[in-house]
Amino acid sequence: MLYSKLFGKTKKNSKEYDSTNATLLIKGGFIDQVMAGTYTYLTLGTKVLAKIEQIIREEMDKIGNEVFMPSITPASLWQQTGRFETVDVLMKTVPANKFALAKSDAEYVLNPTHEEVVTPLAKKFITSYKDFPFALYQIQTKFRNEPRVKSGLLRGREFRMKDLYSFHTSEEDMKKYYEKVKEAYVKTFSRLGIGKDTVVALASGGSFTDDFSHEFQTLCDTGEDTLFYDKSSSVYYNREVAPSLAPEVKYHDEKMLPRQDVVGEGIIGVEELANFLKIPVEKTTKTLIFETDDGRVIAAAVRGGYDVNEDKLRKVARCKAVKLASEKTVKTVTKAEVGYAGILDLPKEVEVYLDESVANRTNFETGANKTHYHSINVNFGRDIPLPKQFFDIKISKRGDLNPKTKKEYQVFAASEVGNIFPLYTKFSEAFDYKYIDREGKEKPIYMGCYGIGSSRIMGIIVEKYHDERGIVWPKAVAPFQVHLVGLDLKDESIKTKAHEVYQALLKKNVDVIFDDRVETTAGEKFSDADLIGIPTRLVVSKRTADKIEFKKRTEKKTELLSLDDIIGRL
Ligand code: ATP
Ligand code: MG
Repeated sequence: MLYSKLFGKTKKNSKEYDSTNATLLIKGGFIDQVMAGTYTYLTLGTKVLAKIEQIIREEMDKIGNEVFMPSITPASLWQQTGRFETVDVLMKTVPANKFALAKSDAEYVLNPTHEEVVTPLAKKFITSYKDFPFALYQIQTKFRNEPRVKSGLLRGREFRMKDLYSFHTSEEDMKKYYEKVKEAYVKTFSRLGIGKDTVVALASGGSFTDDFSHEFQTLCDTGEDTLFYDKSSSVYYNREVAPSLAPEVKYHDEKMLPRQDVVGEGIIGVEELANFLKIPVEKTTKTLIFETDDGRVIAAAVRGGYDVNEDKLRKVARCKAVKLASEKTVKTVTKAEVGYAGILDLPKEVEVYLDESVANRTNFETGANKTHYHSINVNFGRDIPLPKQFFDIKISKRGDLNPKTKKEYQVFAASEVGNIFPLYTKFSEAFDYKYIDREGKEKPIYMGCYGIGSSRIMGIIVEKYHDERGIVWPKAVAPFQVHLVGLDLKDESIKTKAHEVYQALLKKNVDVIFDDRVETTAGEKFSDADLIGIPTRLVVSKRTADKIEFKKRTEKKTELLSLDDIIGRL
């Protein structure tokens, strides 16, 4: 391709965006921002995305069948699974104006994921045990009403995803296939050039199981996720599920002091409370009242400085979901305004779950369950019976230990590039999709789903592979393999030679872009080449005479070589 004809050239005065990938991809002419979280892929960007998706496709073709499902679907499919009301990023389309409305008032869901489409699809085609297992995948645009779109391609409202769905006659078979996908993913990320920085982390399996799901996380300073790594067991946990032991507090040998209820009106947050009471934050207690999906009211408490992890809480409280109780419920249960809940004197019917960080303290603080009051110098065994059991219901934080190995976690920022998720019978049941076994009996179908964020990966690659001059694309995803720069092109003989080199490369099927601009300075061309980040740069100029200058984007060294040598190297 001729750079002079390329749509989407580098932008000299492009501003800095909130992330390196947005800044470099926009400046380099790969993408154009339409609005926050929504981009046009220009020619260079389209090429990179296509290369990423082709690698994914090649690996997925080994374990599944490619299909292409629609982006818009009837709301009824989503109503059938109950997710129309519950998915918090779900968007729908409505007619935009009265003319459109007059033609049709139909509303459609803009799919954020495709279980609601793929399950009925599979049901239409396959029911006999003979045809199981099977898997369908697609590479497609997804829509999510993300509250905060940021970091360029890392989080968009519209983004690209490969989604794979598998169907099985047993849980064992689902789990077997799950391992196969893991292997395919390892291969995929390694081909994409992010293999050595991508780890498998344990994550929440969703509300229908206590199992973990698995996330493929690329370690990356700008990533939104936090991983807790336990070195001695070599396990990465997503923060949301990392089991944790709070570092011990140092004052257990203090003498018990008389309990006191002190007035502290309208104090928000444990820091402020600790300051006000002149005690360490670790002596404060955060108590929250929750309602469970099965209709119970429960209290959960963590040491000041921590927050309650709702997923951990729901597991220990043996229910599918917990949500913060309404103001009314809090008032009824604590007999106080919101903000003064504590673990003292709660009604019997309220189950109390105490995090282990609350244990082993003397003279601690807790809300008094009395408007404007906090109780201090509270002690287990004297003011509150020592509970039979403490739990781990907190959101882990830096400094925490792994409860099994008692070693402090290493903490890493990462971005999720893929996710594999056992669905069990959740969707097959919702669509009454069963298979017919050997005896002609109907049996439940087990499903798994497996995503890879192809557009996010494009952003992550830039986050990981760049220097102060621009992008440094790994070969496998670079928009071109060779960036041929022609200098001194006003000189006819050099111009002819440069075009001859270009034609010769094309003939040898070298994937080359040729900067054939006549008016552009050498400096500009070199800085454009560095910014665009193609793996090999070739220069034809007055100075190179009958040779060609060869340089790798990753190296400083240049060499003068003959065309044959260059073709040999490429
Ligand atoms: P996240 O926790 O980052 O929101 P998710 O758990 O919602 O991700 P999945 O539903 O598993 O993500 O989607 C599969 C993959 O799609 C993710 O692993 C990620 O790579 C990508 N992805 C998800 N949301 C976005 C987004 N808003 N923009 C770009 N890529 C995304
Ligand atoms: Mg999400």
